[in-house]
Amino acid sequence: MSAGHEQAAGRWLIRGARPLGGQRADILIDGQVIADVRPSRSGGGQPEQDVAVIDAEGLIALPGLVDLHTHLREPGREDAETVQSGTAAAALGGFTAIHAMANTDPVADTAGVVEQVWRLGRQAGNCDVRPAGAVTTGLGGSQLAELGAMADSAAQVRVFSDDGRCVADATLMRRALEYVKAFDGVIAQHAQEPRLTAGAQLNEGEVSARLGLPGWPAVAEEAVVARDCLLAAHVGSAMHVCHVSTAGSVEIIRWAKSKGWRVTAEVTPHHLLLTDELATGYDPVFKVNPPLRTAADVAALRAGLADGTIDCVATDHAPHPAESKETEWAEASFGMTGLETALRVVHEAMVNTGLLDWAAVADRMSVRPAAIGRIGAHAGAAGDLRHGCPIEASFPANLVLYDPEPITAVDPAGHASRSRNSPFVGMKLPGQVVATFLRGTPTVLAGKLTG
Ligand SMILES: [Zn+2]
Repeated sequence: MSAGHEQAAGRWLIRGARPLGGQRADILIDGQVIADVRPSRSGGGQPEQDVAVIDAEGLIALPGLVDLHTHLREPGREDAETVQSGTAAAALGGFTAIHAMANTDPVADTAGVVEQVWRLGRQAGNCDVRPAGAVTTGLGGSQLAELGAMADSAAQVRVFSDDGRCVADATLMRRALEYVKAFDGVIAQHAQEPRLTAGAQLNEGEVSARLGLPGWPAVAEEAVVARDCLLAAHVGSAMHVCHVSTAGSVEIIRWAKSKGWRVTAEVTPHHLLLTDELATGYDPVFKVNPPLRTAADVAALRAGLADGTIDCVATDHAPHPAESKETEWAEASFGMTGLETALRVVHEAMVNTGLLDWAAVADRMSVRPAAIGRIGAHAGAAGDLRHGCPIEASFPANLVLYDPEPITAVDPAGHASRSRNSPFVGMKLPGQVVATFLRGTPTVLAGKLTG
């Protein structure tokens, strides 16, 4: 049990919630597992003794969300985020497991560093922290990191990524894909052909031409996605595409999947809702890698997530201190925070548009990312992508209770993240995470951290 959350796992009766947005049910948590899910008895009757009752009328119950792509910044940039603050943000967003990207200082390219991050996560106790390991030493792109040692470490790394940078060398990418087959790992690629994006500031297109800023062509992403799909097929290994941002990438991934190749993909909440038109005000809060694209790309990303071509939503939560963002566009850092708004943005972009129901949201934000991160049991589905996403007796009590009704403006000042660079600031979004349970222990109750 964590130091951060003294309230031990006990017995909880969640009354009248709607699992996956379906019929009202009572969910009984006993210790670390869901003990029972039964039709809700309105009026209730006396609860059993030693059970804490939560009135969840009207709330949607989802399995705890899983993020494949979080930048926690520790070690090295604790001014932007720490494991403590980042995991607190995750819990408030409904997440029970997150994958911490390796581009820290020092880089998470050894068993020692990934174990350090994993331990800090355990101490914080807000959610499970699964370190991603670097693919290449120091993210240098020239020499494979100690993938096996990280896999064998206490952190049991299965996702490897040089995220922030692309593994541009095809031979290195091939070797990495070959290497991780031994322990069922996956290489998560930040697809960005570096020579095609030198100095690039935003999506190459009408807006970049109007603003006179160097553009970032879609082909710089798509060329690497296509190459790596082919490499994954050639090697028979698992490749995951980080933050897909273009319509062309969606088409390539759809084609690769039609071949039965082991290719998976994620899309960020911001790429599902925002376009490059927002850059016209030169506000660097909208500067991100890969860049915001066009409305046609957004439509293709939504369609791809809806039909399963894109497996999951991942936040790419990228906190930056104010001085890195409140500056001229060309000087500002790339990145946006996202953990505390992800579910609300997906609600707006995918549920309110009729593209996903809540069961499909559970699939795209919990079951599938858990399977890709090789922690399928976290979402009760034992790693089977096609299993669906029931909230059932005997599954681990990783749950989020979500109120779909309120519509409020996003205010980063109230976020637990140490950084404030949310592109959704001031935007009215639906929904509110009310409670999050990590293996039966509440990390969030009544919309507030418990620890
Ligand atoms: Zn990236």
